[in-house]
Amino acid sequence: MTQDDSFIKADPASTDTAAAPTDWHGRSAEFAARALGSPEGGLSEAEAGARLRVHGRNELAAARRRHPLLRLLRQFHNLLLYLMIAAGIITALLGAWVDAAVLWAAALVNVLIGFVQEGKAENALAAIRGMLPPHATVIREGRRRVMDAAFLVPGDRVVIASGDRVPADLRLVHARDLRLDQASLTGESLAVEKTTAPVAADAALAERDGMGYSGTLVVGGQGVGIVTATGLQTEIGRITRMISGVESAGTPLMRKLDRFSARLASVILGIAVLTFAFGVLLGGHPVADMFVMTVALVASAIPEGLPAIMTIILALGVQRMARQKAIIRRLPAVETLGSVTIICTDKTGTLTRNEMTVQLVVTGAGVYRASGVGYAPEGEIAADGGGPGAARRGDLLPALQAGMLCNDSVLERREDGWHIVGDPTEGALLVLGAKGGLDLAALSKEWPRLDSIPFESENRYMATHHKDAGSTDWILVKGAPERVLSMCRWQLGGEGPQPLDVDYWRRMVNDIAARGLRLLALARKAAGPADGPLSPADMEDGFVMLALAGIIDPPRAEAIAAVKQCHAAGIRVKMITGDHADTARAVGAQLGIGVGRPAVTGPEISLLDDAGLRLVVADVDIFARASPEHKLRLVQALQDNGNIVAMTGDGVNDAPALKQADVGIAMGLKGTDAAREAADMTLADDNFATIAAAVREGRAVYDNLRKFILFMLPTNGGEALVVIAALLLGLALPLTPAQVLWINMVTAGTLGIALAFDAPDDNIMLRPPRPPEEPLFTAFFLWRLVLVSLLMMLGALALFLYKLDSGAGIEVARTMAVNTIVLCEVVYLINSRRLRRSVLDREGLFGNPYALLTMAIAVLLQFVYIHWSPMHRIFGSAALSAGEWLLTLAAALVLFFAVEAEKLIAQRLRAART
Ligand code: ADP
Ligand code: MG
Repeated sequence: MTQDDSFIKADPASTDTAAAPTDWHGRSAEFAARALGSPEGGLSEAEAGARLRVHGRNELAAARRRHPLLRLLRQFHNLLLYLMIAAGIITALLGAWVDAAVLWAAALVNVLIGFVQEGKAENALAAIRGMLPPHATVIREGRRRVMDAAFLVPGDRVVIASGDRVPADLRLVHARDLRLDQASLTGESLAVEKTTAPVAADAALAERDGMGYSGTLVVGGQGVGIVTATGLQTEIGRITRMISGVESAGTPLMRKLDRFSARLASVILGIAVLTFAFGVLLGGHPVADMFVMTVALVASAIPEGLPAIMTIILALGVQRMARQKAIIRRLPAVETLGSVTIICTDKTGTLTRNEMTVQLVVTGAGVYRASGVGYAPEGEIAADGGGPGAARRGDLLPALQAGMLCNDSVLERREDGWHIVGDPTEGALLVLGAKGGLDLAALSKEWPRLDSIPFESENRYMATHHKDAGSTDWILVKGAPERVLSMCRWQLGGEGPQPLDVDYWRRMVNDIAARGLRLLALARKAAGPADGPLSPADMEDGFVMLALAGIIDPPRAEAIAAVKQCHAAGIRVKMITGDHADTARAVGAQLGIGVGRPAVTGPEISLLDDAGLRLVVADVDIFARASPEHKLRLVQALQDNGNIVAMTGDGVNDAPALKQADVGIAMGLKGTDAAREAADMTLADDNFATIAAAVREGRAVYDNLRKFILFMLPTNGGEALVVIAALLLGLALPLTPAQVLWINMVTAGTLGIALAFDAPDDNIMLRPPRPPEEPLFTAFFLWRLVLVSLLMMLGALALFLYKLDSGAGIEVARTMAVNTIVLCEVVYLINSRRLRRSVLDREGLFGNPYALLTMAIAVLLQFVYIHWSPMHRIFGSAALSAGEWLLTLAAALVLFFAVEAEKLIAQRLRAART
């Protein structure tokens, strides 16, 4: 130790990777420990801090973000913009300076809106990326703790276990069945068995057995390693800048929209060319005038802001989800969430609180109850019907000891009470032992642990090998009762070992499970491993059954509400758990899952073929004693039945099921890195209610996208229709090019974006999931598009003609037309807040403050346009009287109520049809 101490005090710079040897794989683990100044109990916090200053954070370069100036310039790189600028130049050459200036101004406004919108979208995406810092389990100051992997320094001792991503380059000092998937580094897909032995100094990366490289994945076993390099000094840092984060590629919906925009643009251009030819050849308008008009129409009809606004709607949805603790890793998941029909969820920790307390202990001689709640080791163990002091009874004591020794968790007292570090199931046993008056520190000294087999969901047990003070070998085991009972030949009664009474234990198991308690069996045998390390072969036979523990894990109150909400939303909830079938059913009953239906177990699933499983999954909601491989088959069977499936998971072996699911959901707290990387979404709080909240937001996002499109299309269509109709009818033009551009500036890109902020509709979780194949542009969309465009055109044209007729100047008539169109768009924004439902209530009219704000701004701009004389000179507008204002407002209100009436009639028709 003293030698190590001298290294701790060494100048931190002496461990600089540049000066240190890089062939750690060729040196012994002891050498690495000395050279890196890494004592058995880990670094001190002070030392780690000093090294952090020297080596920097353990991060690969953050994702490169584009410079704002570059982003601004890129906005100009757009066909429409080139067109507008070119048209501006031609217009200027023709001497129409005002029109040219307006064209350029409109182009600039477009660029600025695009710039701001894209910046917002990019910021939102960057924020999402930073939400999931990788974690590492490190030993410092003699204690294990979990911390942000960015603060690891060379010399740190890191513990890795099945499912972890290796957080830095490590020289392994301990490896137990440790297998790493190094594909990210070496490209080889088979997992590699790791040892601590040195290899030849010139060994290739793939053959360096004693090393665990940053970014590789632990697929089995566990190990401890000393950090040799961090951040960009690691092998992965040198080779690539790969970071795992949110994919920035668009979603299927966005790609669909991009294609749609392109098609729409060609349609618009086609119409524009026709309009131009028509106006020049038949209408006799001068070529120059018609040219500018055509450009203005194209500029205002093309939905240039569409992709950016889509990104914003998605990103806002993602941020809202993050606020509710659902973190999206892949953007398409946002859309898919909205159409989920089945949620498959874990039980422990997701539906339940994962705060375990042992309530019952059953030994061969009798039943004991433990009092007290939570993790505070305060309470008593009393024989059912007897007084305290029971813990010293010969049958109970060995069970309590085994529970504490065959255990990897830590019970800690902090300012805010008692906490468990590690598995809560195991923590409950520590608390039980303490209630029985046992002291873990003394016990561990008396029975030092030599070896262990960690708990894995597949095996359903954990075992440890100890030597007691009398130098006898012991193997202790705890696990699911069926597993443990199959290892036992004897049981411990009041008077010592007896033959195993299987029926007695089965009865007790059923009894405890029916109360919804989680079950754990404890057993031991006085023997060591047959040869070498403790292995599954040592677990086959000869154990003495000690006791059953019944553990309560109450359901989360919010999960009960969330399950109800899902059912109302047409989503079925299925529970998949490793627990006993009766425990699962009892807990399910409290949550409203699978009530009155049978539960199916993993072994039963294994017996079914795919066709049989498809029948079973349609009916059954609770799957007990299920392993990860069953999850994969369940997802596939459900999908074959036509469902859109969300599936939760936390272990390495859950990754295939998470990938297969339409929405894979990983646990943020207890989940492994492997599960998180396979998933589309991570729950920061491991809570089922969060899934329901995410579904709600997913539906809202899709709603908002549709609302935006249905707002945007008719408003762009309306003004184009006014000009085209006037040309066809041979009338004077109701709008000049500058006025078309003005309308576009006032409304496009400002009004519609308010819809992105719309909160989820009240009834959003009361309607069935959206069919995933439902097209974006339904017949209903086309109908609404035609209706609104026509009404807008009729209103504007009617008022324009009426004014001309009553002898007002063309300026006044045109101002009437402009104001009608703008006011129509303003009120139609409110119509658009609900696609099919009336907005004639308080929430519908005033529920979105952003909408009210953008509407107010648009009206204010109209006041300036109409009543400020410089605008008269630029745009040829004219002041309107109060009566004229009211007329345009009336036209807008006609549109508003017409759309509301249409909703009402359509609703009646739908109701009549069903
Ligand atoms: P779930 O997470 O769905 O509750 P698990 O796979 O964690 O299911 O647990 C399945 C069974 O394995 C439990 O019912 C219990 O009997 C046993 N078990 C759970 N945790 C441990 C552990 N840490 N050590 C030993 N056995 C355990
Ligand atoms: Mg578990």
